[in-house]
Amino acid sequence: MSKSNKDEIILKGIAASPGVAQGLVYHLLQVEIEIPSYYIDDDKKQFERDRLEKALLETRRQITTVRNEIADKLGEDEARIFDAHLLVLEDNALIDETMHELDSSNLNIEFCYHKAASRYIDAFVHIDDEYLKERVSDLRDVTKRVLENLVGETKILNSSHTEGKVIVSTDLTPSDAATIGKSKVGGIATNLGSRNSHAIIMARSLDIPAVIGLHDITDRVQSDDYVLINGYDGILIINPSESSLERYGKIKREKESIERVYKDERKLAAISIDGHSISILANIDGSEDFNSIKDLGSRGVGLFRTESIFLRDNKFPSEEDQFQIYRKVVEAYNDSFVIIRTIDLGGDKIMQTDFFEHKEENPFMGFRAIRFCLEHTNIFKDQLRAILRASVFGNIKIMYPFINDKEELIAANNILDEAKDELRTRGVSFNEHILVGSMIELPSAVFCADDLAEHCSFFSIGTNDLIQYILAVDRVNDKVSHIYKPNHPAVLRAIKIILDAGKNKNIPVGVCGEMAGDPLFVPLLFGMGVNELSMTANAIPQVNYIIRNIKYSDAVKLAGKVLNMNNANEIFKLLMHFYSSNIESLINASIDHDNK
Ligand code: PEP
Ligand code: MG
Repeated sequence: MSKSNKDEIILKGIAASPGVAQGLVYHLLQVEIEIPSYYIDDDKKQFERDRLEKALLETRRQITTVRNEIADKLGEDEARIFDAHLLVLEDNALIDETMHELDSSNLNIEFCYHKAASRYIDAFVHIDDEYLKERVSDLRDVTKRVLENLVGETKILNSSHTEGKVIVSTDLTPSDAATIGKSKVGGIATNLGSRNSHAIIMARSLDIPAVIGLHDITDRVQSDDYVLINGYDGILIINPSESSLERYGKIKREKESIERVYKDERKLAAISIDGHSISILANIDGSEDFNSIKDLGSRGVGLFRTESIFLRDNKFPSEEDQFQIYRKVVEAYNDSFVIIRTIDLGGDKIMQTDFFEHKEENPFMGFRAIRFCLEHTNIFKDQLRAILRASVFGNIKIMYPFINDKEELIAANNILDEAKDELRTRGVSFNEHILVGSMIELPSAVFCADDLAEHCSFFSIGTNDLIQYILAVDRVNDKVSHIYKPNHPAVLRAIKIILDAGKNKNIPVGVCGEMAGDPLFVPLLFGMGVNELSMTANAIPQVNYIIRNIKYSDAVKLAGKVLNMNNANEIFKLLMHFYSSNIESLINASIDHDNK
């Protein structure tokens, strides 16, 4: 028997974040938007009018895109409904009424638009005319889109209603992820998505099981349906039967015993059987409870994704606010170091501000990260001064994302020098010897790594982006996720080039992309000579266990073999074989022993 009397339905998607969860569905598309209401001064009214205009333009663009897709796939007749939507969108009467409401009430524009649209909908509902009644649903659709664009998606995901529930959505944006971070979500299931999107990386770091690529899960379930998700194998079960609940309960318990084996050793140093060590660090976004992630065995931070601070509140925090945050992190890690990455906004990490007003055709190749900072130097310098000020409270290193050539690195360093001068003028102290590193995540940076090494003190390989650019495969597009292969020979050879450059110029090289915490790749990266592995804190106990239970000499042999291979699948098989013969067998033996 299932939790309800309905039949059980089993769906297969992509396993994106491990774990088993069960609970009621929280259907993101069916959630009503909460419309804020606040007072607007007369001199701010033009700003509100501009916001509405921008939201209308964005909605027009969205509707036109959907219209053209439908026309291509199903024909002009089917697409006509969206012409009706465009007419509703551009209806002057509704816009005039909204403006009138703004003038008379002095309330924010989304409130005024919502009020005017609700009046329209009410009036249409009561007219006895079939044609006009049909227009009500167009009106609802269009005004909802406009309101979503005005309010921003973050507001739709209400953290106080999601506790213990399985969030079901088409896809998740990084701003959704930021909201998920604040609540105790049970699990995540999406139609689309990729293991490497920032939302899913966030889910893994929060231990939230996730299954993605389920195609039409948003159509198959309603809010408050009961589902079970298995993030180990990418399974979602709607109306799970008692026997499924029991089976997955057992899987959960087995996985927990394995995790206990890892956790027993997590505080012991990451040194291989034959005495070779590697640093194991945490990737953070600043919202963590540092005591609990230190308890997982992280001995420092290899990547602090600072843009999360900006995305969480959708505003540019002041130098002082940032200083307080960086200081808290570095004080928590007072016995180690913290690598603070300067903001990597852009790509899929877009703030709803004028700075990102123009929707880009190709955001991952567009105006992001260091490109943004070199243009908006005031924002960049606010952050650099905040980091510098925090540097007297511990060991901070600065790292720039998305460096393309040495000119960018030099330009960033020059701005850092200006920030230092400004602090000197203010009489504020900072660590004069602070180290600066470059992320290597673009193919251009790989081939110029020797040149870059002349202008920085360390490298950190951002494999998430590096793979997407080397293989020309969008990291958040599930249609091409099967081509996204860390085990592709081109990716591994690129990593080797970076490591060689680091060795030649005597600077350490870390890896901070998802590959660093992937048990399959840990022995390989170790054997290739990577100095630091930085990962989501949850992965640390397992990675520590792997390093402690293999021989460095075996890892070096493995790396030698792999770098001579030219077939991704063969490489994958060899890595699997290494893992199962060195690690899996050991874990099984430990669990058997504990169970006796
Ligand atoms: C990377 O690209 O590997 C990386 C660590 O940066 P992010 O995932 O934040 O783009
Ligand atoms: Mg990156």
